[in-house]
Amino acid sequence: MPEQVVIVGSGPAGWTAAIYAARASLAPVVYEGAITEDNRLQGTLPLGQLALTTEVENYPGFPAGDLSEFLRSSLPSEHHWMVDMHQKEGCSGPELMHLMRQQAINFGTQIVTDDILEVDFDAHPFQLKALGGKEVEALSVIIATGARANYLGLPSEEKYKNAGVSACAVCDGALPRFRGKPLVVVGGGDSAVEEADYLSKFASTVYLVHRREELRASKIMAQRAIDNPKIDIQWNSQVDEVLGNETDGVTGVRLKSTIDGSARDQEATGAFMAIGHTPNTIFLEGKLELTKKKYLKWTVPFRTNTSVEGVFAAGDVADDYYRQAVTAAGTGCMAALDAERWLGSKGF
Ligand code: NAP
Repeated sequence: MPEQVVIVGSGPAGWTAAIYAARASLAPVVYEGAITEDNRLQGTLPLGQLALTTEVENYPGFPAGDLSEFLRSSLPSEHHWMVDMHQKEGCSGPELMHLMRQQAINFGTQIVTDDILEVDFDAHPFQLKALGGKEVEALSVIIATGARANYLGLPSEEKYKNAGVSACAVCDGALPRFRGKPLVVVGGGDSAVEEADYLSKFASTVYLVHRREELRASKIMAQRAIDNPKIDIQWNSQVDEVLGNETDGVTGVRLKSTIDGSARDQEATGAFMAIGHTPNTIFLEGKLELTKKKYLKWTVPFRTNTSVEGVFAAGDVADDYYRQAVTAAGTGCMAALDAERWLGSKGF
């Protein structure tokens, strides 16, 4: 018997889709991703990008307070070690993801800890093949595989992730280690300017490091960076190494001129990468319509339809603009409702 809904991906979009589909008695199956070294290195382990962050202060519903008792009573004990139950304000990214996952389980979602590697959307029921070799048939599919932030690829950058290296100012910028201190943002697009502008509220100075002498950002955004007295643009510069130590994490960056190769050190307690994102769509190339930037294309305005009837997309895999946990959750809900209505319309 084919599954009614298979959901691929386990970030806020995937779990929200699962909660809605389960409550609609569609018995969803979530392929949450495989726990492999390859996925760890690529930033594509189960639970998505939020699992790589610390405090989440902008997801509605977690204003303040010690959540540890709630977490202890909500999650099965064997999961407690996976979430660093803090005694601080609000919720952390990993906690939020474990809570969403548990909520989906509570309503009857089945979970498979594996990646989907291949899909066949030409025939119906759709065929999906997992990394472990298992094949599954589905009447409808929701793709929620997200996107991963691009990093420079430096070993020193990898070493200090979660200790000053970040790819999300909105997620991490307000942490105490960044307050009143010099920070570095790498990139020259709208995201880099937006991140630099946001961080300038907390930092003493934001050094915006761009490899050329002209920003890629839109004119209005570029002007915002130029006009901001707390943003100091380092033109024609590339981060060659992230500097730091075990105790303090990031302490600075080594900058290299893209013109003459000369190097100099810049003090900073944080290095934010804003050099674009890569959607996790490799396994969908040639199967579903993608945008120029390889994001899944929503083919109907204000709906989550893709180019194949019965296949829906939710979250960052189809969104290169908002990229927030709450917007991903919102489109996850939409995708489940779209799938439910489509299945109903086909008499399944
Ligand atoms: P983007 O426009 O692709 O810009 C990426 C930037 O990173 C470019 O300046 C690029 O340099 C630089 N870069 C790429 N690889 C690099 C590397 N290895 N080393 C150093 N620098 C590197 O990406 P984005 O800024 O994330 O924006 C994505 C989309 O979202 C855009 O369409 C943007 O307009 C939109 N967006 C809009 C807003 C807004 O309107 N408020 C905010 C955020 C994003 P080069 O310029 O030299 O290529």
